[in-house]
Amino acid sequence: MELLHTVEGMQAHADAARAASQRLALVPTMGALHEGHLALVEAARQRADHVTVSIFVNPTQFAPGEDYAQYPRTLDSDLAALESAGGVDAVFAPTPEAMYPFGLPPFTTVHVRDLNRYLCGAFREGHFEGVTTVVTKLFLACRPHVAIFGEKDAQQLAILRRMTAELGFGIEVIGHPIVREADGLALSSRNRYLSAEERQQAVVVSKALAEVHEAVAGGERDPRALVDAMRHTVATAPLAELQYAEVVDTELLQPVETLTSGRYLAALAVFFGATRLIDNTTLDLEGSDY
Ligand code: AMP
Repeated sequence: MELLHTVEGMQAHADAARAASQRLALVPTMGALHEGHLALVEAARQRADHVTVSIFVNPTQFAPGEDYAQYPRTLDSDLAALESAGGVDAVFAPTPEAMYPFGLPPFTTVHVRDLNRYLCGAFREGHFEGVTTVVTKLFLACRPHVAIFGEKDAQQLAILRRMTAELGFGIEVIGHPIVREADGLALSSRNRYLSAEERQQAVVVSKALAEVHEAVAGGERDPRALVDAMRHTVATAPLAELQYAEVVDTELLQPVETLTSGRYLAALAVFFGATRLIDNTTLDLEGSDY
């Protein structure tokens, strides 16, 4: 595994792989790797000859007061986890100075309009502009043919798909299903912040989404009823504080009046103490689910 810390070094490495006719995949991460990240790496391997994992805690996607300073930085154990999962070709782990050589905030950013109005975008000022900007910079540094992102961050995935298509990067964006613990909790680098009691109660998040599936399978088509049911389930956990529960369409990520024959996203953000967990599920009324 080649460990690269500079944009120029990463570009030279990627160019050499491209010159050798390899197909390059990129898995962007913020490190503190878990089985969810490793599943993305495995999916990348299946689609490419050369896999780069980027590990970068991006300062511009954290709002003031969020956990940028506390976010776990565990490069050595991340490298060990990648090695024991079979290794990758390159790990791109730049410093903030390497990624933002002209300082912060950058003068040049990438903004995707409107898709950030609901869900996390409504609560995390500037977050998605930080994401689209850093992913653009990662694309330019790592020069992939294909990039893999988790459906766990569904709004991020939708925004990055739109950005990649509209700007014409010529990069295939692949979404990977959410990897969960046995009890349903979606794997997250932030789960390590949970106390034992919070961890136990955190199961309500995925439970609320599973119940949405059941309700839709049972014929429910009113998004407000689904949102109320999610609120109710989350409220059964005394340590949970709901930030949002929403049902939106998967294209424009806007709330809908009723569920017709489209695809929808039911999504939640829930605080346990200072730890913010997100989760979601797709309701495909066009498919065979219902
Ligand atoms: P992060 O390091 O949290 O920024 O995540 C890096 C990538 O891994 C993103 O594309 C996430 O959506 C994805 N990811 C994180 N957790 C999971 C999970 N439990 N299942 C699938 N993908 C995930």
